[in-house]
Amino acid sequence: MFDTLIIGAGQAGLAAGYMLQKAGLNFALLEAGSSPTGSWPHYYESLTLFSPARFSSLPGLPFPGQPERYPRRDEVIAYLRSYAYQFHLPVHFQSRVERVQRVGQHFRVETTAGTGYEALSIIAATGPFQHPYLPQFPGQHLFKGQLLHASVYQRPEPFQGKRVLVVGAGESALQIAIELATVAQVTIASRAPLHFRPQRVLGRDIHFWAWLTGLDRFPLSTFWERHAPTAVIDTGRYQPAFTERKLERRIVFDRFTAKGVVWEDGKEEPIDCVIFATGYRHQLGFLADLGALNADGQAVQKMGVSLTTPGLYYLGLEFQRTFASATLRGVGPDTLALMKPLQRYLQTARSS
Ligand SMILES: Cc1cc2nc3c(=O)[nH]c(=O)nc-3n(C[C@H](O)[C@H](O)[C@H](O)COP(=O)(O)OP(=O)(O)OC[C@H]3O[C@@H](n4cnc5c(N)ncnc54)[C@H](O)[C@@H]3O)c2cc1C
Repeated sequence: MFDTLIIGAGQAGLAAGYMLQKAGLNFALLEAGSSPTGSWPHYYESLTLFSPARFSSLPGLPFPGQPERYPRRDEVIAYLRSYAYQFHLPVHFQSRVERVQRVGQHFRVETTAGTGYEALSIIAATGPFQHPYLPQFPGQHLFKGQLLHASVYQRPEPFQGKRVLVVGAGESALQIAIELATVAQVTIASRAPLHFRPQRVLGRDIHFWAWLTGLDRFPLSTFWERHAPTAVIDTGRYQPAFTERKLERRIVFDRFTAKGVVWEDGKEEPIDCVIFATGYRHQLGFLADLGALNADGQAVQKMGVSLTTPGLYYLGLEFQRTFASATLRGVGPDTLALMKPLQRYLQTARSS
C-alpha cells in the first residue's frame, strides 16, 4: 500500500516525486513510456524555451548552464533525465494506467499490462500532449492536401517548396511558421490578430518581472491571465520574420476546398499543407470510474484538489493555480501548494 501513486513521469510527476520524497512518504511514479522525460522528446527539434534557464527549473535542481540563455528541447530532456536519476525517483516504466477505482478507504490502480497497485492517494500528472486538439472547419473533409497537428511536426525539410498554412496564435505556431518559412511559402492564420509582448522589459526578461511581482505565484493571476488578451513573448526575432521571410499573417479562413482554403474576403488560395498548432486537451478517462470528471471529461478540481474525490490530486493542468501552472517554472510552486492538503488527507486516511 503506497501513500501516493503519481501517474505520469513528466516534469509535473517528477516535481511531485521530489516533494513526496522530501516529506518522507512512501510513493511511486507510474509512467506509460520508457523515460522520465514526459512529452519533451516528441516536441519539434528546434523548440526553444520561452523562459530563460534561470526560470525553467523544477524544485531542488537549478537548470544547468548560463542562467540567462533560452534552453533548447534536448537540454530540457537531459535536465529531466538527470533530475529523475539524481533524486533516485522510483519510476515504474511501461506502466500505462488504465483505470483507478475506489476500494473502501483507498484506491486501486490497474495498468494496461495487468499490474495492480494500491494507494491511499493519487496524483494525476499525465499532461495533455497525447491528445492534440483539431478544430473542424467547414469543408475540411474535402481537402485533398496534407492536414496535420503540430504535435507531429519535427523539422522543416519535408515541407521544402510547399505552400503551408499554420493555424494558431501561440508560441509553437510562431516558432514552427518561422522555421518553415526558411524552406516554404508560409501563412500563419489565427482567429484574432497576433499580439506580441517584448521578451525583455527595462533590460530584464519578462519572467523576472513575473517572479518579482508574484504574478507567477499567486492564484489571483489566473483571473488576470484569463482576461488578458493572449500574446506571444517575442525575443525580437518573430516580428522581423514577417518582412524578412516568405511569411505572412492573416485572420483565419472561412472554409476548406479540395485544393486549399477560402479566406474571409471570398478569395480561394491553393494550399499544400495545413498544420494545426491549436493545442491539446487533457484526457483523464482512467479516472472516470471515480466520478471525478465533468461532462466534458475534464477534472472537477480547485487548485489541483479534486472536488469530488477525497485523496485525488492533479498537477500540470492549465491555469490550475496560476498562469504558469502548465510550465516548467510553475509546476514546482503548485506541487508545494498541494503538499499541505495531501498530508492532511493522508493523516486522516491512515487513522481511519
Ligand atoms: C510544443 C510545446 C512547447 C512548449 N514549450 C514550453 C516552454 O518553452 N516552456 C515551458 O515551461 N513549457 C512549455 N510547454 C508546456 C509544458 O511545459 C509541457 O507541455 C510539459 O511537457 C508538460 O509537462 P507534464 O509533466 O504536465 O506533461 P507531459 O510532459 O506530457 O508528461 C506526462 C507524462 O505522463 C505519461 N502518461 C500519460 N498518460 C498516462 C497514463 N494513463 N498512465 C501512465 N503514464 C501516462 C506520459 O507518457 C508522459 O510521460 C510546451 C508545450 C508544448 C506542447
